[in-house]
Amino acid sequence: MAEPKTNELMEKIVSLSKRRGFIFQSSEIYGGINGFWDYGPLGAELKRNVKELWWRSMTQDRGDVVGLEATIIMHPKIWEASGHVDTFADLMVECLVSKKRFRADQIEPQTGTVYSFTAAIERLAIERLEQILRENPNFPVSSPTEIAERILFGDLKGLGVEDYLRKFQAEAKRHLERGDLERLFDIPEESAGVRIWQTVTDAKHSLESYSALVLGKSVDGAKKLAKEFYRQRGITEPFLLGERIGTVENSTRFNPENGSLLTEPRPFNLMFKTYVGPVADAENVAYLRPETAQAIFAQFKNVLETSRQRVPFGIAQVGKAFRNEVTPRNFTFRSREFEQMELEFFIRPDEVVEAICGRVASAAEVSNIEHRTSNAEHRTSGPQLSTLNPQPQPDWGWEAWHKYWVEQRIRWYESIGLPRATLVEYWQKPEELAHYARATVDILFKFPFSKRDDRGELTGEELEGIAARSDFDLSQHQRFSGKPMGVFDEELKGAWAKLDEAAKKNLGQRYHDARLTYLTKSGVPAEQAAQDAKADAAGLAKGQYIPHVIEPSAGVDRLILALICHAYSEDQAPDEKGKLETRVVMRFHPRVAPIKVAVFPLLKNRPELVRKAVEVRELLRPHMTVFYDEVGAIGRRYRRQDEAGTPFGVTIDFDTLGEKGPELKDTVTLRDRDSMKQERVRIGDLLPLLLEKVR
Ligand code: ATP
Repeated sequence: MAEPKTNELMEKIVSLSKRRGFIFQSSEIYGGINGFWDYGPLGAELKRNVKELWWRSMTQDRGDVVGLEATIIMHPKIWEASGHVDTFADLMVECLVSKKRFRADQIEPQTGTVYSFTAAIERLAIERLEQILRENPNFPVSSPTEIAERILFGDLKGLGVEDYLRKFQAEAKRHLERGDLERLFDIPEESAGVRIWQTVTDAKHSLESYSALVLGKSVDGAKKLAKEFYRQRGITEPFLLGERIGTVENSTRFNPENGSLLTEPRPFNLMFKTYVGPVADAENVAYLRPETAQAIFAQFKNVLETSRQRVPFGIAQVGKAFRNEVTPRNFTFRSREFEQMELEFFIRPDEVVEAICGRVASAAEVSNIEHRTSNAEHRTSGPQLSTLNPQPQPDWGWEAWHKYWVEQRIRWYESIGLPRATLVEYWQKPEELAHYARATVDILFKFPFSKRDDRGELTGEELEGIAARSDFDLSQHQRFSGKPMGVFDEELKGAWAKLDEAAKKNLGQRYHDARLTYLTKSGVPAEQAAQDAKADAAGLAKGQYIPHVIEPSAGVDRLILALICHAYSEDQAPDEKGKLETRVVMRFHPRVAPIKVAVFPLLKNRPELVRKAVEVRELLRPHMTVFYDEVGAIGRRYRRQDEAGTPFGVTIDFDTLGEKGPELKDTVTLRDRDSMKQERVRIGDLLPLLLEKVR
């Protein structure tokens, strides 16, 4: 079957999400609220499964990561230390007509004809001017438009209004001197110039300039926008002045949706602000966290001290984050409230690795380790993963750890049903990196709404960023809180004592230089920075340093959307009468599928069948989500589960009751969602068989 077109496909996905209870618009009965989404019964299960699988792979399946569950509102200083108060802003532009906001970097450059206007005035004023000019054919200027423009912009020369103005000024002065203010309004209308001047200056007008790009062929659209722009400035029926026609090339100044001019880009802080306690003043300002990571840094020492972990080790957290996004879009992709799954994996600085191991492994060696450890133990059960699993080594520096985590994360996506071919590993270019980041890899998923490159390939959108963040975060919190964030490393202390003087000097100098760069860039005064960097380098001999960090940071909601998009498929299947019809199937991996198995008695009016089916349901229920359905034709019941993405269907029929002979007694048909194949399985074998597939 031909693939549906992008928009059509997204429309189908959005509609199925609502129809089947995956995702609803938040507050829908009140018209919804932009950027907020709710998960219905199937969506909630899907989301729980994903978070649970992430948590399990991060913590339970490995000994070197522990968990944290911190509050959403934290001390506002945290966001000063992290840089969010000062720099967590998008450049935003706003359409001057529709008021719609866009992120400046998301405006596509456009080329075309532009209509510009310098001002507008009430049409009635122009009509009055025409009338006066008809009555005074000798007036020096004959165009009402020119007259209006010249009066509004103060170019009065030769217009015949100066006499009136002079007189008005003299008379007004007299009235003012006498304190006879009411007389100010009695200045008589005499000449055409007077009437013209008054008509223009009394009429509602706007001196703001405005432009619009001609979208499509019609210029009318541009003029209509201009009139709307001036209407919003209080002019009931605007007459456009100072019209000019020009062209622009690759301009990002116009709204791609209607052609209207946009405001200049201005920074917009994305944090939601609130107040703690009853008084809404500056002292009580707090923020809803825009990411979960900062709590991990703030609690680093507590976790270290209570968990008995030693560097390298990680802290994982799953939780809500809030960003007042300028343009929420693409369904749930960019939301204002969303969930993140973040790991901060703390590692030794390279100088420390070198002091302990005598060398720092290169990133390329991580790939070699994949081959060295190619034994069955490292292949997880379930789907075949596309590469083997590297095992961490003591001589890994930040590059090796970073590569390792990129690989781990891609493997995890594969394990929940997103094949490597649907993902893109995007290495940020040096100019794209945050100033403290040494490297960042974004894992992109090829969404149906992603842009296409020159070859027509989907380019993908970010699901997760994996950043090597140096020791920036812990250092910032050390500076802002005044509390030490360093660790003591017994192994370093022992190894350092055994180093020769040249090695000590070399490693000490490198560590010192890195610290000095950080401190200087952070605005610490030169003298203080020099002193601190020296003290930090001296700490190495005592086994002390500030750990570096690798941060894999993933969004739950984007992943759910990726899973839904990837799962959505249509094929042809026979209906009850054998006629082929389009079947919508959500091909979720059994691990993430919201419902693992559906149990159906063949007929609802046969108590023996129903009894047996309930027995099977109760057998499976403690171990997985089971959906029991006895209503309607069996084919239709299968279809409903195909749309919900339920990978397995168990049907209890007359064979189960032994009506066709004892050999089939207590067997059921197990239907596979994707192949639609059915096999006979003993009830006694059902649970282990299913558990193996869904775990
Ligand atoms: P983007 O560039 O798309 O705004 P980001 O680089 O700002 O994302 P990070 O700060 O690295 O995102 O956040 C880590 C992850 O959190 C992202 O990879 C994404 O999965 C998720 N995320 C960030 N912002 C949103 C959002 N507005 N809605 C849904 N998920 C989000």
